[in-house]
This record gives sequence, structure tokens and C-alpha cells, in this order.
Amino acid sequence: MAGILALKDEQMKWNTLDDMDLDGKKVLIRVDVNVPVENGKVTDITRLDRIAPTVKEVINKGGKPILLSHFGRPTRGFDLAMSTQQVIPALAEVLGHRVHFASSCIGRVAQEAVDTMPDGDVLLLENTRFHAGEQANDPEFAAELAQLGDAFVSDTFSTAHRAHASVEALARLLPSCAGRLMQEELSALENALGQPERPVLAVVGGAKVSSKLELLTNLIKPMDAIVIGGGMANTFLAAQGYQVGQSLCEHTMQDTALDILAKAKAANCDILLPVDIVVSREFKAFAENKVRNADDCPQDCMILDAGPKSVEEINKYLETVKTVIWNGPLGAFEIPPFNAATDAVALHVSELTQAGRLLSVAGGGDTVAALKKSGAADGFSYISTAGGAFLEWMEGKTLPGVAALEAG
Ligand code: AMP
Repeated sequence: MAGILALKDEQMKWNTLDDMDLDGKKVLIRVDVNVPVENGKVTDITRLDRIAPTVKEVINKGGKPILLSHFGRPTRGFDLAMSTQQVIPALAEVLGHRVHFASSCIGRVAQEAVDTMPDGDVLLLENTRFHAGEQANDPEFAAELAQLGDAFVSDTFSTAHRAHASVEALARLLPSCAGRLMQEELSALENALGQPERPVLAVVGGAKVSSKLELLTNLIKPMDAIVIGGGMANTFLAAQGYQVGQSLCEHTMQDTALDILAKAKAANCDILLPVDIVVSREFKAFAENKVRNADDCPQDCMILDAGPKSVEEINKYLETVKTVIWNGPLGAFEIPPFNAATDAVALHVSELTQAGRLLSVAGGGDTVAALKKSGAADGFSYISTAGGAFLEWMEGKTLPGVAALEAG
């Protein structure tokens, strides 16, 4: 990713590893080892790679890393298929250290494993979600976890929107800090949304207005401009009296869409809607399609992408901004050629970022997939892999796992 991501650490309200004396300390690290596993083998080590810097730094500082993580969504206690034990070979390889395992994250078993682990090794505890106290943010369960360590490092932004015991309550019981991955993520988001260089533009795409209503409403104030794309743009076009044919459209949300446009106007936030559209009779790859003006969707067609004039307009606008924050595709990107607008705009953001003219941050599951597919992802300043947490941050919500760290 581009190197223009200047970390404004002085703005950070939480401790980092630089603030902690970890020599000789037992250090509980909340990580996310919830990686895909097939036939007992880890098939994607991205998440393990990303926690490695923090774990290695803790060892280098003389600390004993004790890793806590959830795995999957167990509903009734222990479930072998969701044991964290299965990631140990891959984790050991990524870390280059021996990784021991404790078959419970609390109690005597965990305590013994902590007491007997040699210096320079790593201990991974069993899935925190095997205990109901984890998701209930139970103080007693958190206190049992806290007994195992002298300090706490949180390195999982992707779960920071959940008030779970190993994410929230635990951070309040021990001297705490953000790990390097968490720090990187928080810095990137703070630079894009907290005190961004202006003008700042948001690209909000995706399927429905209803799922991103809060996001759109909350972005009006901090943004100078918002590009609205994807299926949700259809609702805005319909609200303006345009025919949208068979398009995905939430007709009951039209008043809400008009309200958003009025609020944006009052706040001097420019809204960019498609001026032309790509329409087709079928929702399938390589379906016959046509470019039409935005007010000219035939009755038997659906809008599946923004057209070339819209792309030109957005890309021209991008030349005037300093910060871009992106969630959601501009069209049905999974079925070519309706990925064209998403690709063209993403590649332009990437080029401007690489030229040092933009800071660009993108996040959310579908968004990451769309940007990777376009080939633009590597050119962005920062891509957040945290789906729910990224959206909640963009919505301006307080994330429990981050707020708890502010206590230090
Ligand atoms: P979201 O999860 O809200 O970000 O929505 C992403 C989904 O919206 C993707 O699966 C896209 O295919 C879909 N999408 C984007 N634009 C359209 C469109 N014009 N019509 C139908 N689906 C769309």
C-alpha cells in the first residue's frame, strides 16, 4: 500500500506498545486467529501474518505472549471444529516461535500452561467463545482472564465493535495498549475521518439505502462530498421522479432519500449521483446492456452500473479532494461488465494516491473484494479488512473495544 499514510500518533488517545514496559511480564494479547480452515489446514494466513509484528515485539521486549482469540460462532460451549488448536502449525510457522496450547482460556489448565511456558515461546489459549461469559462481557469471566496476565494488548480492530469480555471488560482490568495492527488501523481511520485533510469525499455504494442509512446521514456533516452509487443510487433516482424499471430500488425509502439530499444541501455537502446508467434486462454476467441517461431506464430493464459520464464526473471531482473514504461498490461488480464504474473510479483513486495527491481508505467485506478485483487495492493508502467495525467507525459510533483502551 502507498507510503503516504503519515501516522498522526499525537492524536491517539490510547497507549501503544511504545508506552509499555513488558520485560518479564505475562502479556495477554487479544488477536483474531479466526482464519479459514479446510480439512484441518489453514487456507489463508493473512490474519496470522498481520498479528505477527505485535507478538514478535512482545517477545523482543522480554514479555511472554499469551494469545486470546475467538474462532467461529460456537453456540453451545466446546466444539472441536472451532478449536483454536487447529491454527497452531500455521501460526508457529508465521511467527517463527514455538506455540503451546491450553485447552481452556481460564482456570487451572490455563494457569498451568502460563506458569510452565518457556521464555521466547508463545501460548495460544482455547476459543474464548466456548464460554458464555465472553459474548455477555461478563466481569467475572474477564477477571478470570485477567488473572493470567500482567498486561493486555488489543490487536483486533475487526472485533472492536463488539462488547465482549476479551475485547472490552478485560482492557479495563489490566494496564492496556493497542497492538501494532490495531494502531495501524486506528491511525488510518483517524487520519481519514477524525481530522482529515480537506476536501474529503466519501464513496458510498452497495445494495440498499436501508442498510446504509445511518452511514449516509452521519457522513453529511464531516464530508465535503458523497458519491452515491450501486443499487442504493436507484432509490435516489426514483425519489427524483425518474423511472427505474426493474432495478433494485427501495421505493418506500424515497422520502428518506429526499431528506438526505436536503440535509446535504443545507450542510454544503455535494452529492454525486449517476448522470448516466448501464441497463440490462438480465442480472447475469455479460448480459446485453446499454448506456442511458439517468432518467431513461426502460421499463423492462434494470440499472446495474453507473455509466461512463458518471465515472468521468466522479474522477474529475476526485482531482479536487485530498481524502477519500470508500465503502460499497458502484455497481453489481461481481458480474462483468457491471464492474466497470467501480474499477475505473477505484483505479483513479489508486493513481492519485500513488502520486501523493490523496489519502484513501476503504473497508468492508464487499468493498475489499471489489477493490481487489479491480486491481486498485494495492494503490490505496489503507484497506481495512474489518467489515462491521469499519462501518460502525464510519458511522461515527464509539467502538467498545477502542473506548476501553482509552482508559489505558
Ligand atoms: P453492500 O453489501 O451493501 O455493500 O452491497 C454490495 C452488493 O450490492 C454487491 O453484491 C453488488 O452486486 C450489489 N449491487 C451494487 N449495485 C447494484 C445494482 N445496481 N443492482 C443490484 N445490485 C447491486
